[in-house]
Amino acid sequence: MEHLFRNWDKLKDRVRGSYLFLFLDYDGTLSPIVSTPDKAVIPLAARNLLKEISQNSNCKIAIISGRSLADIRNRVGIKEIVYSGNHGLELKGPKIKYNQTVSADYKKVLSKIRAELELKLKDIDGAIIEDKGLALAVHFRLAGKKNSDLIKAVFREVVLIPSVAKKIKIRCGKKVLEAGLPIEWDKGKIVLWLLSRQKFIMKDKNVTAIYIGDDTTDEDAFRALKKEGITVFVGGNKPSSAQYYLNNSKEVYDFLGRILNNANKA
Ligand SMILES: [Mg+2]
Repeated sequence: MEHLFRNWDKLKDRVRGSYLFLFLDYDGTLSPIVSTPDKAVIPLAARNLLKEISQNSNCKIAIISGRSLADIRNRVGIKEIVYSGNHGLELKGPKIKYNQTVSADYKKVLSKIRAELELKLKDIDGAIIEDKGLALAVHFRLAGKKNSDLIKAVFREVVLIPSVAKKIKIRCGKKVLEAGLPIEWDKGKIVLWLLSRQKFIMKDKNVTAIYIGDDTTDEDAFRALKKEGITVFVGGNKPSSAQYYLNNSKEVYDFLGRILNNANKA
């Protein structure tokens, strides 16, 4: 993998003159990684960049997050952006909306898991249970090594039977485990769906997709866009299916600035 900026001269010509569809993860990409999920915010200058890019007639932004749709929309709050929550299961943006419906049985399974997790994790420091509506997440960024192992063991024990019975599916992210819908849908699939829809709307115009993310769940999108997009991993030169890397959120903001500059010249 090469650093994105080392290839910028080559990429900016490819990007210029084409309609740009920018897909962005939130935590660890637009917001630096923080100790608890509620502290993750975007600096004002970066938010202004997002706003300007999303209002440019040659660009579109979609934020694809593991957070719930309501949470991610509140956090960013720019109306021109398309938001997708729960790794692609919820979607809302200008002229577009999609909500996954779930069965009463699934809700029952999830609330039973929640009750059991609350009981078994209540005395373990550093465990945070988050109800995301469509899924249940357990965060352990605040837990030490020993407690992290304990939290993971409790989670695995609690979800074992429903996951074997395919009533739920386990998803793993950075310092988070999730029990969610047992369907084959991920960030890669929602991105391909949004991209093909955009290409259909734009008819003959050339559309370039750029995906930036830092998590294991973003790897699905990196793989999905391998042939036709520009994929960027945030977090240094580590094993990833992305083509390029950036080191941190600061470099992501720098990149957003370059994108805007380039789009304004087009
Ligand atoms: Mg992330």
